[in-house]
Amino acid sequence: MKTTFRKTLERIDFSRVFSELEKKRVKRVGIQLPDGLKFFSKEITKNFKDKGYEVIVSGSASYGACDVDLELLKEVDILVHFAHLPIKSVKRVIYVPYRYDYEIGNLLNWVDKIEEKKIALAGTAHYAWKFPEVKKFLEEKGIEVKLSEGKGRIKIPGQILGCNYSILKKTGAEAILFIGDGTFHPKGAAIYTGKKVYFFNPLANEFNVFDKEFVEDFLKKRFIQISRAMQKLGEGVGIVVSSKIGQKRISLALKLKLAAKNKGINSDILLFNEILPEGLANFPYGFYVNTACPRITYDDYEKYEKPVLSPQEFEILLGIRDWNNHKIDEIL
Ligand code: SF4
Repeated sequence: MKTTFRKTLERIDFSRVFSELEKKRVKRVGIQLPDGLKFFSKEITKNFKDKGYEVIVSGSASYGACDVDLELLKEVDILVHFAHLPIKSVKRVIYVPYRYDYEIGNLLNWVDKIEEKKIALAGTAHYAWKFPEVKKFLEEKGIEVKLSEGKGRIKIPGQILGCNYSILKKTGAEAILFIGDGTFHPKGAAIYTGKKVYFFNPLANEFNVFDKEFVEDFLKKRFIQISRAMQKLGEGVGIVVSSKIGQKRISLALKLKLAAKNKGINSDILLFNEILPEGLANFPYGFYVNTACPRITYDDYEKYEKPVLSPQEFEILLGIRDWNNHKIDEIL
């Protein structure tokens, strides 16, 4: 993986960043890196120090463009946020997204495994930039390909985020082909669409499938979480809100609090920057509703001692939403 990050680093166009810094007469620069690039912090900061800038590196996590280090921004003239396409425009922040280059031809080893004739392409931004070429490649193999624009925080056709699958809405596709690394996004795509998701990891040259059974299993697990929470209603509920700029949903939390009150359930809104199991462990609530990054609810819930529900699942528990209308939580 380090080789991939190194290659990615080599492809970053620092000249654009430096010309912006010059224009703005910057003296002190903040650097924010995702975990995969933190290993290269010395090389990255050297680029800036050699040009005479004073540099401060963020030690915090950087989960996405939803997670701009606002504390560091207070201390610097400009913050350079690496690896993500912008979600919100924030004054004095320069975003430096990166793109993995990958061999589209490697799909040839797997294309026979795709049974459907009409598919939708989906991937994270690091991969989706190459989708027009992927579409052409697959169409030459006789597969009809939908490459759709998304809503809100989605910036390029085919891009999905763990909190936004809008490109997959009403595509008319029979199945999805996800290109990227990790399993969180293809799982989310399967749950969102209820369709079969093929996923191709170009870095490992691996191809796999999430089928309808996976979705059924996921829903069973979510049902168990709701049932566990139901037994703890008497202990009250903690409604978790993140202070991260692209995750903060205070109005949603207030709406859920009011809905709980109307059903006679005690709740408190809890504001965190970083939501971690140890942060919730000291609180006395029977269960939690997560309004921050949906990954916490779906990917990390087993790390938490008490049930963690999505806003939609909490509505099911309150009886104001039907189980058949269980929807994946999105931040549009
Ligand atoms: S909220 Fe979560 S899924 Fe959405 S961009 Fe941020 S880290 Fe990714």
